[in-house]
Amino acid sequence: MRITFLGTGTSVGVPAVGCECETCLSEDPRDKRLRTSVLIEHHGYSFLIDASTDFRQQALRTGIKQLDGILFTHAHADHCFGLDDARPLMFRHGPLACFATESTWQGLRRIYAYAFEPSPYPGVPRIVPHRIEGAFTLFGLNVRPLTVIHGELPVTAFRIGEFAYVTDCNEIPEETCSELLGLDLLVIDALRFKAHPTHMTLDQSLGYIERLKPRRALLTHISHDIKHNVTSGHLPAEVDIAYDGLTVEVN
Ligand SMILES: [Zn+2]
Ligand SMILES: [Zn+2]
Ligand SMILES: [Zn+2]
Repeated sequence: MRITFLGTGTSVGVPAVGCECETCLSEDPRDKRLRTSVLIEHHGYSFLIDASTDFRQQALRTGIKQLDGILFTHAHADHCFGLDDARPLMFRHGPLACFATESTWQGLRRIYAYAFEPSPYPGVPRIVPHRIEGAFTLFGLNVRPLTVIHGELPVTAFRIGEFAYVTDCNEIPEETCSELLGLDLLVIDALRFKAHPTHMTLDQSLGYIERLKPRRALLTHISHDIKHNVTSGHLPAEVDIAYDGLTVEVN
């Protein structure tokens, strides 16, 4: 299974519009973060976790020519506003399978009402909705949905084999922690240094990594408070900051 980071930035992206901080002005390509999403490729199939606001740009620069599905973590704008930009793939290859929990579908149905209502126009997104209710098999992979807490909102984390993707949370419940042991790779939210009501600080993420003991961990959903080359030198050996375009192989 190959994982490509399409975006690793927080909801406003990095650089942030109008900001002239050191990270936003950085020339380091690792400090240019589109909105958070990953592409997963396995045995000729490819699917996304989340369709970020920047999906069009991400698909063009990564050379995505076909998708077999999208798993959604939640229906916040930065994680689902790219679904409309997947329309050229739908026009070419047919309706796209989308997977989300019922609470996330409620948000997606509201945002994309025009895709679910009968329409005389051919240009609307074509979606095959699948409701996530428990573990399921996708393209030969065992996908286990897990709940994490994002302020007041439950967000879906995914464990796929020995890989887990845990974005947008400030807390991982006990029962989810026990499902995140024995990982080869943990991708985890690490917004910034200062406390935030809905996201992890770097210290909180490192605390969970120490407890869950994955073989490797990569940080994502990062704000401009974290400059790649400054912070990456202070992390434990098994932890690194993900960056856009990074590709990793997982068993
Ligand atoms: Zn987000
Ligand atoms: Zn900035
Ligand atoms: Zn969110």
